[in-house]
Amino acid sequence: MCDADNSEARCLKYSNDPWRIKTCPRCGFVYLENPPEYEALKDEVSWEKTSAAERTRRNEAEPTLQRAASAVKTVRKKWLKRDKLPVLLKAHVKPGPVVDIGCGGGAVIARLGAEGYVPCGVEISTALAAKAQATAAKFGGRVAHNNALAGLDEFADGHFSGAVLSAFLEHEANPLPLLEKLRMKLAAGGAAIIKVPNFGSWNRAVRGRRWCGFRFPDHVNYFTPRTLKQMVAKAGLSVRKFTAGDRFPLSDNMWMVCQKS
Ligand SMILES: [Zn+2]
Repeated sequence: MCDADNSEARCLKYSNDPWRIKTCPRCGFVYLENPPEYEALKDEVSWEKTSAAERTRRNEAEPTLQRAASAVKTVRKKWLKRDKLPVLLKAHVKPGPVVDIGCGGGAVIARLGAEGYVPCGVEISTALAAKAQATAAKFGGRVAHNNALAGLDEFADGHFSGAVLSAFLEHEANPLPLLEKLRMKLAAGGAAIIKVPNFGSWNRAVRGRRWCGFRFPDHVNYFTPRTLKQMVAKAGLSVRKFTAGDRFPLSDNMWMVCQKS
């Protein structure tokens, strides 16, 4: 997971049988010890299926809280412009091909195309990849239907002026090899925008096992600001923007812009 020999890793209380969350005794990285195989993600435990099931489960478990949470999210989106993606793209990503890794049904692909980029994507779910490909093609882009590592290899080295990893890296069973591969596929100066749940958020400490960042078995990595920085550096990328506001502990998520120097 983080390259260390983790035979002494501790199982954390957040585990949910049969899924085991562990922490690396050397670097502090938190991860799911037994993630699903890539093959299962194509259909059996694909995102569109597990996320629908998770929504139902949460609504049944805590209906009032979920309604309040989604109301708060709507207000945030509308008034506080919490969606940093367009701003970060404009500030950090040059025109050209941009890959959305784990592009789902293509919502970001469409936005990239509208912003003038050539939108590309990688998506493992069969149903979602087909949908995203239809959108990408309108803007001259292409979606690889594959796991992220093999999907990126369908594009030439140095091909991308930018990458979006929004709610992706927490799903990737091989995050370090993936970031190393991404570095190969970025042009010099190419920037990657990363959004992941923040395991160091205060809400996680308060909510414990019921924190929204826990999704079994979808989320296999649980980054803190420190372990995200460590892994990005290990992959040979440099941090371009990761301010206190990007990793504000009151938010469940954090944003980072890193780049290939
Ligand atoms: Zn480690």
